[in-house]
Amino acid sequence: MAKKTIADVDVSGKTVLMRVDFNVPLDAGHVRDDRRIRMALPSINSVLERGGRLILMSHLGRPKGEGFDEKFSMKPVAERLSELLGRPVQLGSADFGDELRTQAQGLKDGDVLLLENLRFHPGEKKGDAEFGQFLASLADIYCNDAFGTCHREDASMVAVPQAMGDKPKVMGFLVEKEIKYLQDAIANPERPFVAILGGAKVSDKIPVIRRLLGLCDTVLIGGAMAYTFSLAQGGKVGKSLVEPDMVELAKELMAEGGEKLKLPVDTHCGRCADEITGDCEKQIVEAGQIPDDFQGLDIGPKTAEAYGEIIRSAKTVVWNGPMGVFEVPPFDQGTRAVAEAVAAVDGTTIIGGGDSAAAIEQLGFQDKVSHVSTGGGASLAMLEGKKFLAVELLDDK
Ligand code: ADP
Ligand code: MG
Repeated sequence: MAKKTIADVDVSGKTVLMRVDFNVPLDAGHVRDDRRIRMALPSINSVLERGGRLILMSHLGRPKGEGFDEKFSMKPVAERLSELLGRPVQLGSADFGDELRTQAQGLKDGDVLLLENLRFHPGEKKGDAEFGQFLASLADIYCNDAFGTCHREDASMVAVPQAMGDKPKVMGFLVEKEIKYLQDAIANPERPFVAILGGAKVSDKIPVIRRLLGLCDTVLIGGAMAYTFSLAQGGKVGKSLVEPDMVELAKELMAEGGEKLKLPVDTHCGRCADEITGDCEKQIVEAGQIPDDFQGLDIGPKTAEAYGEIIRSAKTVVWNGPMGVFEVPPFDQGTRAVAEAVAAVDGTTIIGGGDSAAAIEQLGFQDKVSHVSTGGGASLAMLEGKKFLAVELLDDK
């Protein structure tokens, strides 16, 4: 059933406790990339514009859970958020106790309080009920807009909504959009429905491959994982990144997938030393014909063309995992060709996965697709069909 969103509750004069994902990269005390902060602005503004009082909370990096640690302070985030909102943002006391409660009680309509890094408190990672109760007691309404953390059961994600009792528990607009694409669009796809799966390891992606083989009309395989499939077919893979202990499983997946599962017909390989560089000796060979001292680094041009054709005729596309080492040109060509095809699709196009999202942005196609997921691990888990307790606990419409 659909869950209530922040738009469904009256926030005027109320204190909203909103879990966001402000786990941003920092550089010498400044936010290097504020994308995650900007993604939460629609939900934040929705509360402030309607006269709500806002308490924001997030984790940042991996502090030890032993109290305040300047390196992981939310202070730079508060400063950046304040610039983006054009209003002051108060930073919460790291005591997670009386001082913080006094700050929360002093909030007036339109005020914003950003809590210190939740992971300063040992209860956050443990999903501690008491910590959840304390946080819940600060507010009238709970809102989850932290998609990147939705697959976790940290206190702010699970113990807090559990402790809210009858008070409203809703999702923010970012979580709503992620679910609309990564869950709903995939469960009821317009066909043909094509999945593109790549990346480094088969082992990371087994549940996703399995599930998408069940849902899709075609599954296109690329990236290093293609060479484990090639190995399973008795192909020569040279020095490619392969997982020999996944060969049996690759055989199973090929048998399960039959005609649906497509593998590369050619490979762009290189003879690189320890480091993969663009100027190493290169060759394009047929799949399964990689010379001994070469490694497969991208799908070849014939594969890119064949995959492109299949993608362009689709009505729904899900893409997880780059087709090659896209960070090092010219081994970005396969990923680029696939990105161009996805961008040309007249239908719903969904990009999930941290490196896939980075690739689509690096290539400049982020505005040409329906949805680029903000969650790495969370988007993979949702593509696997996992149910998230952090979402289940929210109020139904
Ligand atoms: P995502 O984060 O989108 O789920 P993955 O983490 O599974 O994607 O994989 C991305 C990584 O896979 C990239 O760093 C890319 O360089 C690497 N990769 C892709 N193809 C190859 C290949 N042929 N050999 C080695 N690494 C590869
Ligand atoms: Mg990754």
